[in-house]
Formats: sequence, C-alpha cells, structure tokens
Amino acid sequence: MKNLLHDIEEILLMGPGPSSIAQPVYNALASKTLGHLDPYFIKIMDGIKSMQQEVMQTKNRLTFPVSGTGSAGMESCFVNLIEPGDAVLILINGYFAMRMQEMATRLGADVDTLEFEWGTPVNLETVERQLKLKQYKIVAVVHAETSTGVLNPVPELGRLLDQDTLFLVDTVTSLGGIEVKVDDWRIDAVYSGSQKCLSGPPGLSPVSFSDKAVDVVTNRKKPVPNWYLDMSLVLKYWEGGKRSYHHTAPINNLYGLYQALFMALEEGLDNVFTRHAVAHRHLVSGLEALEVSLPVAAAHRLPMLNVISIPKGIDDVQGRLTLLNKYKIEVGGGLGAFAGKVWRIGLMGHTARPENVDRFLTALKEMLI
Ligand SMILES: *Cc1c(COP(=O)(O)O)cnc(C)c1O
Repeated sequence: MKNLLHDIEEILLMGPGPSSIAQPVYNALASKTLGHLDPYFIKIMDGIKSMQQEVMQTKNRLTFPVSGTGSAGMESCFVNLIEPGDAVLILINGYFAMRMQEMATRLGADVDTLEFEWGTPVNLETVERQLKLKQYKIVAVVHAETSTGVLNPVPELGRLLDQDTLFLVDTVTSLGGIEVKVDDWRIDAVYSGSQKCLSGPPGLSPVSFSDKAVDVVTNRKKPVPNWYLDMSLVLKYWEGGKRSYHHTAPINNLYGLYQALFMALEEGLDNVFTRHAVAHRHLVSGLEALEVSLPVAAAHRLPMLNVISIPKGIDDVQGRLTLLNKYKIEVGGGLGAFAGKVWRIGLMGHTARPENVDRFLTALKEMLI
C-alpha cells in the first residue's frame, strides 16, 4: 500500500496562512506525547500561557490557546460574552468581520454593522458618530483583515470606547507580525491563530480576556450555550493548582506552539516585526519594478499580507497553479469582493524572509516573459 505522506513536497507557503514552519517547530511536534494531566505537561502549558502573555503584551490571567483554529477563538470570544439581545457593533471591511457578524447573529445578539469599502480601513469618525447614537455591550473589529490586506486603527478605536463597552479584536493575522498591545489598547477579548505569523502548526487559537470580560462571563444570566468553548469549564483544565479533565488537549500541537512562541521571544518581538517590515518593503519594490500594482494605499498596508492586482497577461487560477506546480510556491487568491481580481501574497512568520521574496519575484518575472 502506498503511503501518501512520503510524497509530500516542500511548498513555500506565501498565502494567507498557513505559513511555512521552521524545522525546530517540526521537531517539537515529534516530541514524546505525554498524558494531558502529566505534571510535566502542565508545566509546558504554564510556559505557553506566560509566553502568550508576553507576545500579546498583556497581564490578563485568562490567556491561553483554545483547542481549535482561529475561528474557534473567534467563536470563544463571542459565545462567552454574548447573551441574546445584547447590542453588538461589528466594523466590517472584509471577509473575516463578516464571519464575526454571522457568529454574533446566530447567538441572538442585536447586531449593528458599519461597513467600509474593501481595501480601505475602518473610519474613526463614522464609528464615533455611531457610538453617540447607541450604547453597545461589544464593539468588534479585525486588526489585520486578511481578505484585503488592510490594517485597522485598533489603538485609536480603543480610545473611542467607554468603560461599559467591551472591545473584541481579531488578531489572527497580526499577532507575531506587527505590534499587538492588548493592555495598552484596552482590548477586552482577543483571539489569534497559531498558523499565521506565529508559524506554528494550524489548530490552536491563542485567546485572552481582560478582567472586565471575565466578570461578564462570570455574571451571565444563562450558561454559555456551547459546552466545548465555555471558558468557565475550560479554565478548570488551564488554570489553578489542581487541574481537571475538560477535553484531551492536542498535546503535540501544543508542543509546536510552545516552540513557535519560544522562537519569537528568543528572536525578540521588535526584531520579528522588523523582519516582517523589511520583507514587505523588499516585495513592494520588486513588484513596482515589475509594474504590478498594490490596490491598498501604502499607509494602510499590512506587511504580512500583500494584496496585489493579478499581473496583466496572467490568468488567476492558471497562474497560481503554475506557481504551485512549477515553482513550489503557494499564494492566495482573492476572497469575496476581491475574488478573481487580486492575489494575496503572505509574508507571515517564518515565510517573511528576503530569500523567499526573491524566489517569488524571480518566478513571477519568468511567468511575465
Ligand atoms: C485566518 C483568519 C481567521 C480564521 O482562522 P482559521 O484558523 O482559518 O479558523 C480569522 N480571522 C482572520 C483575520 C484570519 O486571517
């Protein structure tokens, strides 16, 4: 019988995630599996929590990775904080904020949205005006909108909110690539993903709740309508002197996240952010030389997710297949309003290196001849 795993090729992952994984993270995944209540494994969990606090720049006690991808982190934040009828404002300028709207709506929240054109950031004056009209329990925004390559003004939004409003932020694509300061930016609920700028294996979602958010969860009128993601239950496994079974943690995946966080902190967060910025500038200048345009205005571009117009003379689907099959490079196609119009070039985590940018530019140049 043929084993398909033997024929996996190394692909340079330059799409919207997952990003390429460094060898030490692969090695970590192959470490010996321990029991999920083994005291040594609990030590590893505590190590993950404290490294995650450092990377998220927070002292929040409730800081740990949810067992599930970024969307499970998103669902954790919404399902724990929302009760039916709660007023929620979602700021939408891309695909992932639409997913937030879907989740909040399913939970029976009174959902309002402000929509901004794809490729542009959330407008602060528009938000400020809306906040004067209505009191919201939660305001939610995506920091780095992966569908459009746009950075949203999270610190400035935080300053617009009063003390009674919870600030819920998606940092799936931003964490580990640009600054995320959970405490300074007065964020109350935040989630991320292991497989984007942290370059860990897909399957874990670092989340953090402020004390104010924890109070809201603790004082709910009704229990959280989702058993698996109910923080009050999960924390009996992730916190306290005596841990008890909730679900079997994805042990080896957590080793991978441990190693990825360890490497980011060892390199130094500032160095990590600089590496992303340098790779981004290198890509932009190379694309400009090839006369490929970037639709997002320079001031709002994300370093780790570059939206480019599909170069003239190259077919969307065929072009991406050539990159994959001939050059062993994966890039992303457009989502939603951007489908068929753009490609998304990820420079996330371990992928964000000049030699990878050069490999992509060389391939593109050959395809344009
Ligand atoms: C990828 C992504 C998600 C969803 O994460 P999954 O790991 O695919 O579930 C959510 N928000 C943003 C901004 C993302 O880029």
